[in-house]
Amino acid sequence: MHNKVNHVYLSLGSNIGNRASFLNQAVRLLSQNCGTLMAQSAIYETAPWGLLAQDDFLNMAVALDTALLPNELLAAVLQIETSLGRVRTEQWGPRTIDIDILLYGTVVVADKSLTVPHPLMHERRFTLQPLADIAPNVLHPLFKKTVTELLLLCPDTAAVSKVTA
Ligand code: ATP
Ligand code: CA
Ligand code: CA
Repeated sequence: MHNKVNHVYLSLGSNIGNRASFLNQAVRLLSQNCGTLMAQSAIYETAPWGLLAQDDFLNMAVALDTALLPNELLAAVLQIETSLGRVRTEQWGPRTIDIDILLYGTVVVADKSLTVPHPLMHERRFTLQPLADIAPNVLHPLFKKTVTELLLLCPDTAAVSKVTA
């Protein structure tokens, strides 16, 4: 039986080395290994969140059509992170690449290793602003609010500024 294709949104971030190159490589690997690239946001430069004493990030969002199941997609993105030199030290610390699964269609997942929608997406301007480029009217399946509405309600005041179209 074939798994059906699901429309998913991912958040990408980098704050070590050639940040734009890491984002570009991640997009290429996602489209090679995980599904069909449907949309990508602009790239934004953003102040660090959670752990403030580190360099600024570049962030973007992408949409993929994927036949991978949620846990399969997570395994694939963790593998891409590793292949791009991601090393985990401290929580929310510096990284060559971070790939978070924001939304997986309207599916809700609450496993030990995977929570979808991403549990902090609505609290982060650096996640919502890029996502709003490509999914302004997509509904958060738990809050029943669109990405645009979540952005308007988001209390995060950290700087987020567009660096590329
Ligand atoms: P945050 O999740 O708050 O943005 P982080 O991205 O820095 O923090 P990581 O070290 O990249 O955290 O990931 C830790 C673990 O989070 C992963 O190994 C994965 O099992 C788990 N995880 C849970 N939900 C998700 C999700 N929606 N997307 C990606 N990873 C997730
Ligand atoms: Ca993250
Ligand atoms: Ca992550």
